[in-house]
Amino acid sequence: MSEKYIIQIKNLIKIFGDGVEIKALDGVDLNIERGEFLAIIGPSGSGKSTLLNQIGILDTPTSGTILLDGVDVTKMSEKQRSITRNKQLGFIFQYHHLLPDFNALENVMMPLLISGVKSSKARETARKVLEEVGLGDRMDHRPNQLSGGQNQRVAIARALVNKPSIVIGDEPTGNLDSKASDNIYELLRKLNHEHKQTFILVTHDVHMAEKTDRIIRLVDGRIVENSKN
Ligand code: ADP
Ligand code: MG
Repeated sequence: MSEKYIIQIKNLIKIFGDGVEIKALDGVDLNIERGEFLAIIGPSGSGKSTLLNQIGILDTPTSGTILLDGVDVTKMSEKQRSITRNKQLGFIFQYHHLLPDFNALENVMMPLLISGVKSSKARETARKVLEEVGLGDRMDHRPNQLSGGQNQRVAIARALVNKPSIVIGDEPTGNLDSKASDNIYELLRKLNHEHKQTFILVTHDVHMAEKTDRIIRLVDGRIVENSKN
């Protein structure tokens, strides 16, 4: 896949509700380059999560197209969608959603075990990724034995362990203090440089957004700003 754009979105519209209709996305056009580190900002209710969920193939649009690596995901069957999601996408949310009864290593191994990787291989891979996110010495800790920032690192390791080409984060630091938040952004930036994966992050934090390659600002479901940093 040598195309410049890993994601091509054309005239994307998403309308919620059958009684009172809410146009959450109102004709979004957006091309994202391979390896870009991009921030989506905008006021609450402007459609940021809706757009991210569309890119993550977690929801279907009302109309418009989304090409991932040149393939239109809006035309895919439910099965193809789920295969593409597991193979190509990594998700980081505001809350880490780690399994409380499993330690960091086991949480990170989980996606690999689900995709059928042998336990010994999964363990070795998960260990490497946890070392990369700076948790080499915390692998046997459960979520309640780790800080908010550390748990978010585990969640990042879990999102990356399948080597997705696109990583999306919906307010990945929304639950952290500013110091922990800075550290997480530095980590994501480092991973972006080292792995050349595409990162798309929704954030409230303008200071963080300024450290990305490009800022997309949404208002009322439309892109009102698209500027390179
Ligand atoms: P943001 O993430 O920017 O705060 P959202 O994408 O969550 O905004 O929401 C955009 C608009 O769509 C809002 O008006 C919201 O209430 C509406 N919306 C989002 N998800 C749903 C849903 N599942 N059903 C109905 N309305 C929704
Ligand atoms: Mg949101």
